[in-house]
Order: sequence, then structure tokens, then C-alpha cells
Amino acid sequence: MDGPAVVTVFLLAALVCTVAAAVAWRRRANTTAAAALAVLQWSAGAWAACAALLDLPLPSTTARVLLVVNYTAIHLLVAGTLCLSAAVLDPSWRLRRRTALLLAIAPVLVVVATATDGWHHLFFTGFGDRDHHRLDFGPLFPVHSAYCYGLLALALLRLARGWWRAAAVFRHQIGCILAAALVPIALNAVTVTSPGVLGGVDWTPVFFVVTGLVTSYAVFRRGLLQIVPVARAQIVDTLADGVLVVDPTGRIVDVNTAGLAMLHRAHADLPDDVVGLPATTALRNPQVRELLSQDCQRTVEVAPGLHLDLRSRVHRDGRGRPLARVVVARDVSDAVAAEHRLREHLRTIDGLRERLQEEAVRDALTGLHNRRHLVAALEDAVTRATRSGGCVGVVLLDVDHFKLVNDTHGHQAGDEVLCAVAAGLLEGTREGDTVARYGGEEFVVLLPGAGAEAAARRAEEIRARCEAARVPVGGDVRLSVTVSAGVAVFPADGVDARGVLAAADAALYAAKAAGRNRVLVAARRG
Ligand code: GH3
Ligand code: MG
Ligand code: MG
Repeated sequence: MDGPAVVTVFLLAALVCTVAAAVAWRRRANTTAAAALAVLQWSAGAWAACAALLDLPLPSTTARVLLVVNYTAIHLLVAGTLCLSAAVLDPSWRLRRRTALLLAIAPVLVVVATATDGWHHLFFTGFGDRDHHRLDFGPLFPVHSAYCYGLLALALLRLARGWWRAAAVFRHQIGCILAAALVPIALNAVTVTSPGVLGGVDWTPVFFVVTGLVTSYAVFRRGLLQIVPVARAQIVDTLADGVLVVDPTGRIVDVNTAGLAMLHRAHADLPDDVVGLPATTALRNPQVRELLSQDCQRTVEVAPGLHLDLRSRVHRDGRGRPLARVVVARDVSDAVAAEHRLREHLRTIDGLRERLQEEAVRDALTGLHNRRHLVAALEDAVTRATRSGGCVGVVLLDVDHFKLVNDTHGHQAGDEVLCAVAAGLLEGTREGDTVARYGGEEFVVLLPGAGAEAAARRAEEIRARCEAARVPVGGDVRLSVTVSAGVAVFPADGVDARGVLAAADAALYAAKAAGRNRVLVAARRG
């Protein structure tokens, strides 16, 4: 290395790198990539600092220590780069103890080899000279170089493959890291193979510092690596929605806690860990299976009482090839149950409303239509008859001496007689006829289309049926009652509903006056 300017650049680079390493290290809880990045940056900084200091006239012991640190830092840098590539491509990646131990072997060997080089000169043939940077490499040095290049090549290949497969959003980030890592490696290869170029200075550590800074930008500035592991660990797993990821070969590659619980509720015999199983093993319902082959959304009852709203979508990489199918399941059992309850309530309400409507036009004792309905039906019939030029027969009936029944046999017996009369009135009614309880013991039979003669005939039938009937009113007592009836016809006996009713009432009054138990037709005026 020549000149104070170069030494200053190296020391400055080391300083910047150490600060960046500290920043990355503080974020290691967010993402494993941050820890790997911190190691990479610290190593690059240590390498740059050692390279700068080794250019100074130092005592040989200090120089030896610096060389040990220098080569240990190089190995740590390589290991950091490898871990970084793994963490960038798989945010859930964690450094396993076994991998860490394997990666530690080379640095330990290098520490031992460089520290003891004075005796065996296997690493540097000229170790211990004052002119440290012009050391000649011993036979172990190419082994060290090959190992380092091997690991770096592995990291680069991984990144390149990841870049090729990544979705667009991650491509820029991986591309940045890949490009930044390639530059110092290429430069180092040039320096090692042709030591005279670039002013005889090995700029590799400085370029690794740049690599570290660019990677920091990609990791932190663009933030993606921070976001993804947080999303997986703290969002996807705590979601109430189930998330199931199926790879293009149809195997389950991921499922969150809620998704696993739903699968187990649907199929209790499934193993605790379903990752790796064919998706069709876990999704047995034919309707659910269809979600594996098409983007769609549907609600399926996957187990008794377990209704899931399922959405399926295929995710593709930057080149449009399917990466995975994601099925999101939301438990809508409560909503479905509430909807069922609501439907049930609506049915009950509809039933009650119909009953209420019916009761509003019915007489509670006899079950016949009541006076309100009769008036409406009569007005309706009169309107139709007016339009069609037809007629409406009205029969008004009254039980004879009914007060006597009440007085002699009691009110309840009177009620039973009223019910029996009502039943008798209903016998022989035709479609379109209306039978109503008009008042206490008064009834009306409405006969649309019937003239005086037909209406009188029907009234006579009813009268005779009542006379013949024997109504049981408790014990062995059977009562026989008679009815009187007045018959009137619209439009002959009245110009409207009220008029024809009045005419029938007058005829009834006349029937009573004439001795009861008879039918009289309204006397026509004019
Ligand atoms: P007429 O032959 O002149 O019609 O004599 P009547 O006794 O039938 O007539 P009146 O109008 O004097 O009496 C009717 C009786 O009907 C009086 C009332 O207490 C009774 N009544 C009215 N509604 C009911 C009812 O719902 N149940 C019973 N048991 N009796 C009723
Ligand atoms: Mg009466
Ligand atoms: Mg009466």
C-alpha cells in the first residue's frame, strides 16, 4: 500500500463500516439479515483497518496480531455474506448451531495457521518482515483463497437464483445486493491473480465496505427484509384468518396457526404438522378441493357447524410462473348461525303476521269471518256485481229465543249452540260464498251471483238443518234451536252494501214477527 492518502481512505472506510455495522447490529432483532450484514460490515471494516495499519512501521508482534485479525476478518466476511444471502432469500432463515460450528472451523484454522506461521511458513513464506504487504504466499494460502471463493460463489449463486425467481417487488433488492457483492469479489480476484494492477493496492476491503453500505440500503432503506419476517411471525401467525400455502406440485408448504386449527377441526385425524403433505390429504371436501385449481371465493361448511369463507389465489413470480397458491380461510360460522337465526325469526314473524291478519278478520268463538270482513266482502261483491251486471244474495240469520238458551242452560251452553249453528252454516257453502258472524247470535251468508230464489233456497236449507240438529251442551242434554232468516238481493233490494243489508234485516224482522223459524225474502219496493 502506498501513500498516506490511501491509508486515510482505508481508515475512513473502516470507520464508516464500523458505524454501519453498529447500526445493522441494533436491528438484528427485526431480521436475521441485519445480523449477517453487521458481521459482513464489521469484518470489512476490520479488514480495511488491518490493511491500513499493516502499512505502518509496526513491531513484528503487532503486525502478526494484525495479520491474524486481518485473515480472521476475511473469513468472517465470507461467512457473513453466505448467511446474508440465505437471510435475504428466506426471511425466516435462522443460523443453526451446526451451520455456525461448520462456518467457525475455517476462521479457527486460519487464526491458528496465521498465528503460528512464524514457525512453519505455510501461510506466508515471508511472515515477520517489516514489509508485510509484500508477503509471499505459502502453500496454505491458496487453500484459504479457494475456500473463501467457494463460499462467496455459493452465496452469489444463491442470490442469482433468488433474483431470477423473485417476485418483482424483491428483484430490485436482491439485484442491488448481488451487484454490490460482485464488484469487490471480481476486484479481489484481479488483485490476487495480478498483484501489480490498481497501483499495487488491494482495494478489496474498501469495496467490501461499499458492498456493505449498498446492502444496508437494500435491506433497511427499501425495508423489505424488515417487513417480511415481521409479517410472517407477528401478523400471519396471529391472524384469525387461516392461511394455507400450496406449492405448484400440490404440496402444503406453509400454514399459519389459525389455518392449522381449522384443518384439525375439519379432520381430527390429520397429523400435527401438515407441511409437506399433499394438499388433497388435508382438504377433503370436494368444494374445498376446487380451490386448489382455480382462483375463487366460496363459503363451505367443512365440518358440522364450521362454515369457512374461502378465497384462493395463485401467486406468480416476476416472470409470471406460479410460485404458490394461497388459500385464506375466514371462520364465518357465527355469521352463518346468526343468519340462520335471523331467517328463523323472519319466518316466525311472517307466520305471526299472517295469523294476526287472519285473526283480525275472524270471530274468536266460532271461527267464522267477522263483521269487519263481511262488510269488506259485501262491498267487494257489490262492486263486482255492479261492474258485471250480476247480483249478490244476502241471508241474515238470527237464532230464535237465544236469550232463553243462555238463561236456561248457561252462557257456555249458549256458546256451544252458537258454534253448532256456525258449523251448520258452513255446510254446503261454495267457493266465493262468505259466512260471517254478524253480531251476538246473528249470522250472514253472502252469496255472490245468487238471486232471491237461490238465496232463499240456501236459507231454507240452513234453517232446516238447524231445526233438525241436536246440540250436546254437557251431560246428556241436547238442545235444538231454530233460526229465522231474512233474504235480500243486490241490486234489487238495495243500491249498495248498506242498503241490501238493511233490506235483509227488515226481512228478518218480518220473519220473527211472523212467528220465527222461517225464511222471508225482502219485500220489493215498487
Ligand atoms: P229473538 O228470537 O227475538 O231473537 O230473541 P232472542 O232471545 O234470540 O234475542 P235477544 O236479542 O233478546 O237476545 C240475544 C241474546 O244473545 C242476548 C245475549 O246475551 C246473547 N248473546 C249474544 N252474544 C252471545 C255470545 O257470544 N254467547 C252467548 N252465550 N250468548 C250471547
Ligand atoms: Mg238478535
Ligand atoms: Mg235471536
